[in-house]
Amino acid sequence: MPASDDFKKRLLPNLADIAAHFGTPFHIYDETGILETGNALKAAFAPIHGFMEYFAVKALPNPAILKIMRRMGFGFDCSSVPELVLSRQAGGAGEALIFTSNNTTDRDFQVAFEDGGCIINLDDISLIPRLPAVPELICFRYNPGPRRTGNEIIGNPAEAKYGVSHDQIVEAYNLMMQKGSTRFGLHTMLASNERNYSYIVETARMLLDLVRWITEELGIKFEFINIGGGLGIPYRPEDAPIDLGAMSREIIDLFTGFQAENGYMPKLFMESGRYMTGPHGVLVTRAINRKDIYRNYIGVDACMSALMRPGIYGAYHHIEVLGKNAESGPLETVDVVGSLCENIDKFAVQRTLPKIDPDDLLIISDTGAHGHAMGFNYNAKLRPKELLLRQDGSVALIRREETMADYFATLEFEKNIFRKSG
Ligand SMILES: *Cc1c(COP(=O)(O)O)cnc(C)c1O
Repeated sequence: MPASDDFKKRLLPNLADIAAHFGTPFHIYDETGILETGNALKAAFAPIHGFMEYFAVKALPNPAILKIMRRMGFGFDCSSVPELVLSRQAGGAGEALIFTSNNTTDRDFQVAFEDGGCIINLDDISLIPRLPAVPELICFRYNPGPRRTGNEIIGNPAEAKYGVSHDQIVEAYNLMMQKGSTRFGLHTMLASNERNYSYIVETARMLLDLVRWITEELGIKFEFINIGGGLGIPYRPEDAPIDLGAMSREIIDLFTGFQAENGYMPKLFMESGRYMTGPHGVLVTRAINRKDIYRNYIGVDACMSALMRPGIYGAYHHIEVLGKNAESGPLETVDVVGSLCENIDKFAVQRTLPKIDPDDLLIISDTGAHGHAMGFNYNAKLRPKELLLRQDGSVALIRREETMADYFATLEFEKNIFRKSG
């Protein structure tokens, strides 16, 4: 049974009351499920001493969620200054933070080095002279290029803007050694929503091979390898979840083999976003209009501002109608749409669902990662609130909905005009 089914058992009996109390639309997240997934991840990799998950903040950048991650001892993977600040406010500090930026500015680096610093994960060799100081511990993001085919979503590494190329990777560590760094880590991020665990195992194998090679060339030891995120979740009911047990066993074997050969075992770091929170969130929205033209449309009170994945990737998100199912009454095939003046503003296209009446509550599944966070304000659409179903059964508001005042806030500024002189 997918983790999200347990969430629905906890949520659905009270959902009508929760919706009446807070008003729709909202994303609601499941504290219990997040803790279960995090603890399962920790248990699976426990034999690798120093295993650490750095939650990818961009997936769900809410302080209440980040605090749940801290309770499990997790760190944070950040790629922007606001993400660093948010993570520090949630209790992440020093080596519990990884800064994986790309196209980095000097200001980004300054903030990364402030307040006790963080692990710097450099995206390119050209950034070395731009560092405001020489960190003791340095990590590089590796891009294998044509040596590895990317998975479907993330594409071909040879076309990806990220990371240091194979030809430059030894020189990158060499330069940092010359500058005085003494501790080293190695990172890559090659997959997105990958449910074939072997792909992740191959990434670990690739990094350990790379460590062997760099060690041979430079004589340095590596404190950790970071296999990035990209673990997939079953968005469709027929999808199988990634086999965490098999994945961790095979990766542990690789690490054990490395230790037997080299006399030490690096730590294993991971930066899962989707896997940690994706199944543990749903978007709850109310049916407000129906329209029958060439197709039948159900208009709901949420739109793309709450969830972009269906519109921009054609991604599937399972939808249920509260109190209705295939057995309880008639079905019909509809498009479930928001209110943007963009025809991609659809949560589902030609989906067969129980017949929806006005005021019905729709539960759009698996919105706990890359959901609210990706939302935008195009067409002056505002983003919805976020709620947390806590372990004790209570529900807390953890982010209010945007208001018109938020939308107008950037229109309040001091008059500022440039005129050509002379
Ligand atoms: C987005 C991102 C992640 C998380 O990806 P998921 O698919 O959510 O696991 C991890 N690391 C980096 C560098 C990323 O950009």
